[in-house]
Amino acid sequence: NRKILLASRPKGIPDESNFTVIKESIPEIKEGEVLIRTIYLSVDPYMRGRMSNAISYAKPYELGEPFLGGVVGRVVDSKNSRFQVGDYIEGRLEWADYNVSDGKMLRKVNPELAPVSTALHVLGMPGLTAYFGLLYIGEPKDGETVVVSGASGAVGMLVGQLAKLKGCRVVGIAGTDEKCSYITEELGFDAAVNYKTTENLETALKTACPDGVDVYFDNVGGEVSDSILSLINFQARIIICGQISQYNLENPSMGPRVGGQLLKNSAMMKGFIVSDYEEHNDEGLAKLSQWLREGKIQYRENVVIGFENTINAFLGLFRGDNIGKQLVKLTEE
Ligand code: NDP
Repeated sequence: NRKILLASRPKGIPDESNFTVIKESIPEIKEGEVLIRTIYLSVDPYMRGRMSNAISYAKPYELGEPFLGGVVGRVVDSKNSRFQVGDYIEGRLEWADYNVSDGKMLRKVNPELAPVSTALHVLGMPGLTAYFGLLYIGEPKDGETVVVSGASGAVGMLVGQLAKLKGCRVVGIAGTDEKCSYITEELGFDAAVNYKTTENLETALKTACPDGVDVYFDNVGGEVSDSILSLINFQARIIICGQISQYNLENPSMGPRVGGQLLKNSAMMKGFIVSDYEEHNDEGLAKLSQWLREGKIQYRENVVIGFENTINAFLGLFRGDNIGKQLVKLTEE
């Protein structure tokens, strides 16, 4: 049983030396427990925060502690009456080939509803993040303009599509031309801006948003987000979902003072964590499943094969390697 542990805390951008891979025998289960074989592992940007010991919303991993993240797996042994061998489950488990669980925090996944991997994105945590952030905080209305950064990633690709369902003009910001084509040509965004190659992001966004910006869904922070501020409309809503451009900085950069822009536009800026809304998870998942079934939302996965590629897949999030949700596939279903 291979497992990935935190070896050291990164300074700046993490690298392979911050991780250790160990091998142990496959664990035995006790009464009430299940043994799960991992099919898919999720690598997520928030895990970078847990590698540091700074206080954040997710508690830091201890040195020598296994990485925990979203896993879709199959029950291969069970001493728990709720689970049968062969069941598919999703849970927050170790980055390992096998996990033992008491089943309390596991969710059963029905392979007939959608591919089981979707429990790690559109029908899981990133999907709910897009749903709550955009619909509960952003409250987009027909005809408004919604801008989303990190637009081709797990959360961003859904935010834009949900905003289209609400009748909005949707503009995505992403880091390659291929990502920009994906969101406009395949997902139906109205416009996309490549923040890495555009000479003046603010001017490009102004052109893409002729009526200004009513909702900005921020996945990245930093200069990309600064460039939106001058474009916001009266009563704009700015949703702070993620700040990936800042996660690897030892000293976060200082941006412009936002108070003036918020004040003169009666605008709102609000941060959130997906678990703030967990009492609404069933509603969110039911809606997302329905839209997926009806073909109203689509997704893309960036799947790398093999446990040995997990660390590189995680590091790739910060290089922008992924279009859609980054997953690691360990075994066949
Ligand atoms: P993504 O699938 O979007 O993957 C990360 C992407 O971020 C990369 O592909 C890259 O795309 C972009 N990126 C990386 N570095 C930078 C940078 N320096 N500046 C701008 N963009 C960068 O990840 P997720 O969809 O899973 O997460 C998106 C954001 O949402 C993250 O910030 C994450 O922490 C946050 N999040 C927050 C949650 C909450 O509860 N609040 C829950 C889940 C996620 P590109 O090529 O476009 O640069």
